[in-house]
Amino acid sequence: MPDVFADLVGQDEAVVDLRRAAAAAAAVLRAGAADRAPALLTAGAAETAGAAESAGPAGAAEPGGVDPSAGMTHAWIFTGPPGSGRSVAARAFAAALQCVHGTGCGECPGCHTTMGGTHADVRLVVPEGLSISVNEMRALVLRAASTPSGGRWQVVVIEDADRLTEAAGNALLKAIEEPPPRTVFLLCAPSTHPDDISVTIRSRCRVVPLRQPPADAVAEVLARRDGIAPDVARWAAAAAQGHVGRARRLARDPEARKRREAVLAVPRRLTGVGAAFDAASALIEAAEAEAEASVTAADATERAALETALGAGGTGRGAAGAIRGAAGQLKELEKRQKSRATRAQRDALDRALVDLAGFYRDALTMALRAPVAPVHTDTAALAGAGAQKWDAEGSLRRLEAVLACRAAIETNVKPRIAVEAMMLALWKG
Ligand SMILES: [Zn+2]
Repeated sequence: MPDVFADLVGQDEAVVDLRRAAAAAAAVLRAGAADRAPALLTAGAAETAGAAESAGPAGAAEPGGVDPSAGMTHAWIFTGPPGSGRSVAARAFAAALQCVHGTGCGECPGCHTTMGGTHADVRLVVPEGLSISVNEMRALVLRAASTPSGGRWQVVVIEDADRLTEAAGNALLKAIEEPPPRTVFLLCAPSTHPDDISVTIRSRCRVVPLRQPPADAVAEVLARRDGIAPDVARWAAAAAQGHVGRARRLARDPEARKRREAVLAVPRRLTGVGAAFDAASALIEAAEAEAEASVTAADATERAALETALGAGGTGRGAAGAIRGAAGQLKELEKRQKSRATRAQRDALDRALVDLAGFYRDALTMALRAPVAPVHTDTAALAGAGAQKWDAEGSLRRLEAVLACRAAIETNVKPRIAVEAMMLALWKG
């Protein structure tokens, strides 16, 4: 198994910082073992230490009398655009903290179990629905306060921390404000904008900004790690616009390629009002179908598991009472599954809109004769024809219509309404 940071594409600076922090964390543990037990810095102090520490060499703090905890802190936020590897970075850092040999060797039991998702002291919260509830968060905070069984750190990774409800955010904030000595929170969010993460949580965390990885770095990792042919890897990396996971899916999954082709066929189909509404329906229905395919199997498995646990089918005494109690739990499960299905639909639709935005971006850069490579090499000729017809201004208006549609859906406008408005704007220009 390679180093735990190997999958983090194009984020060299962040990796340097995270390794340095893991080394500092290890120093804290050693100092603790020697009974010098320094506490980790928290809140604003950590921010200052982070800045100061980057001035000096890594790990130099250690026995020289400076607080060995200076490079490490309790709460982190990994930010960056979708596909930049926020959760990959957080998991790798969790492994580095549990690494018994160094700062994420990838080979010791600490690294291995963390990366495999089975480390007893690493909790991973992956919200499946639209938000993380306060109950989930309270339970998590409670467990995170326990002493790490492996003697190192209790690490809580919260993917999509921007989906915390306000109440859940407050529960988390309390834990971050008064952190148990060996607990580390790793949050992932698109940005530190107040819409994504509350200002108070942000002020208690150190931020690790990730950037959109360059296409050639994505192509390189697809070829090296996934064994994808270099030309396919290059095409997929460009088409996925820096989204590593999406690039891998495009390279490997013919269904994903078919869906993308259908989306990119939209611009040439917009020949009138009726066609615009048809295209909107097709896009919405394709997103629904894709989402359904991704959640149906999980839904059925969960329901069967719950029914078995509740003793469904029992006929003995007490079965009727058990069934009454079970109804509440089944309802709760259905609610969760519905939320997850909605999320999956939005994600699928958003992927389609990103592809479409790439097409109009290509038209715009061609109209401007900008010396940049097209996002979609396979529809470059079509984008070129669009550029001639619409000119830069018309291309820009269309690109803006797609981006406005994404933004509208993000603020809970009904997807169908937003997509219909977009299609009309794309047709009319
Ligand atoms: Zn290790």
